[in-house]
Amino acid sequence: MTTTATGPSRRVAIVGGGPAGLMAAEVLSRQGAQVDVYDAMPSVGRKFLLAGVGGMNITHSEPAEPFLSRYGSRSEQLRPWLQAFGGAELREWVHGLGIDTFVGSSGRVFPTAMKAAPLLRAWLQRLREAGVRIHVRHRWQGWSDDGALLLSTPEGDKRVRADAVLLALGGGSWAKLGSDGAWLPRLAERGVEVCPLVPSNCGFDVGWSEHFRSRFAGEPLKSVVLSFTDADGREQRKQGEFVVTEGGVEGSLIYAFSAPLRDAIAAHGSATIHLDLAPGKDLARVTAEVAHPRGSRSLSSHLQSRVGLKGVKMGLLRECLDKDTMSDPQRLAAAIKALPVKLIAPRPLDEAISSGGGVTFAALDERLMLRQLPGVFCAGEMLDWEAPTGGYLLTACFASGRAAGLGVWEWLQTRRPT
Ligand SMILES: Cc1cc2nc3c(=O)[nH]c(=O)nc-3n(C[C@H](O)[C@H](O)[C@H](O)COP(=O)(O)OP(=O)(O)OC[C@H]3O[C@@H](n4cnc5c(N)ncnc54)[C@H](O)[C@@H]3O)c2cc1C
Repeated sequence: MTTTATGPSRRVAIVGGGPAGLMAAEVLSRQGAQVDVYDAMPSVGRKFLLAGVGGMNITHSEPAEPFLSRYGSRSEQLRPWLQAFGGAELREWVHGLGIDTFVGSSGRVFPTAMKAAPLLRAWLQRLREAGVRIHVRHRWQGWSDDGALLLSTPEGDKRVRADAVLLALGGGSWAKLGSDGAWLPRLAERGVEVCPLVPSNCGFDVGWSEHFRSRFAGEPLKSVVLSFTDADGREQRKQGEFVVTEGGVEGSLIYAFSAPLRDAIAAHGSATIHLDLAPGKDLARVTAEVAHPRGSRSLSSHLQSRVGLKGVKMGLLRECLDKDTMSDPQRLAAAIKALPVKLIAPRPLDEAISSGGGVTFAALDERLMLRQLPGVFCAGEMLDWEAPTGGYLLTACFASGRAAGLGVWEWLQTRRPT
């Protein structure tokens, strides 16, 4: 413990240097805590940097209520974090790092340069200037019998003591970037309630024929409407795009449905989505166009000229429909407007954009402290919430890191310095 002019400073160990852990470090160092961040990898923020590769979508500009609804059954638990630090506050915070943002046509918010690296660089510099110490290649292995954090480092094993500990270890996907989910059994052993980590924002296997796979893997399906009826009979519909993969489907439209699709497959062994391949035309119009005499033209050129279907859309029809349906204009038109595609398995957790499951909200108090382990707090993707892509993941990671950091500080004020 060090002593400053304002009294003894509190030492906080943060394990995990992703957006959640670094945000907690910022909040706590501002309060005057001595903050040490430990990360297993040779540098911090690796998943954050990867998220920036395809265009860093940091948050969303939609109003608070629809924004909150993206967290589904966990919306109410996330409400206080996001009320205090939602999309607008996050944008202001990014601007404070000297990085401009813009709102894309879908309402998604991006840094002007579309990249994460300049933001992370400016942020780490600000954290270091505030006295935050970052220790890379420090892998947390659990606790010693007397309650110290056990860290393995290239210089050997270390024991670290702190007045409070904040775990921000991420979910279970893209393990090579650091978040491998190895913390889950460690917390479970200590009596913390956890749910298994499951893929979220993930692709799915269909099991294409060799013919379809070899011709269309990698092809985007642009502007289709996907509809899915969940176990409670609620139909969800959304227009967007996805990509045909070697074995199935992936991309933003699929990710938007990934949680209910994953749950339906777990419950019933498969899930059937329906695709409207001609969203601009209603069923009556498509039926009339398909039934229009085609003379000597092939079915492909007929559907291309009358309905605008070609390439992968045409391939998908042939892949999913039998010959009888293909030759019956009524049934073919109905299938063009609602083509059933059966998904048989989610892609593995490690390939997913994010994970669901983790530390349950019942295991946490309102400060995000583990009820079973007083003085240990959690934040970020390791908590049991999930959301679609669109900036909602990062926003909740930042907001929960901030909430947990403030929770740590509040809790420390109730304790006598050790
Ligand atoms: C390809 C891809 C694209 C994405 N794009 C977006 C996007 O555009 N918008 C969006 O909102 N979200 C996006 N995400 C999701 C987002 O990046 C994550 O939700 C977010 O990074 C999670 O933050 P976190 O701080 O909770 O955990 P992480 O960022 O995973 O950080 C956890 C940290 O903990 C460290 N760690 C783990 N275990 C240990 C241990 N035992 N000891 C020490 N350190 C440990 C790890 O090394 C890591 O640095 C994307 C994810 C991926 C994979």
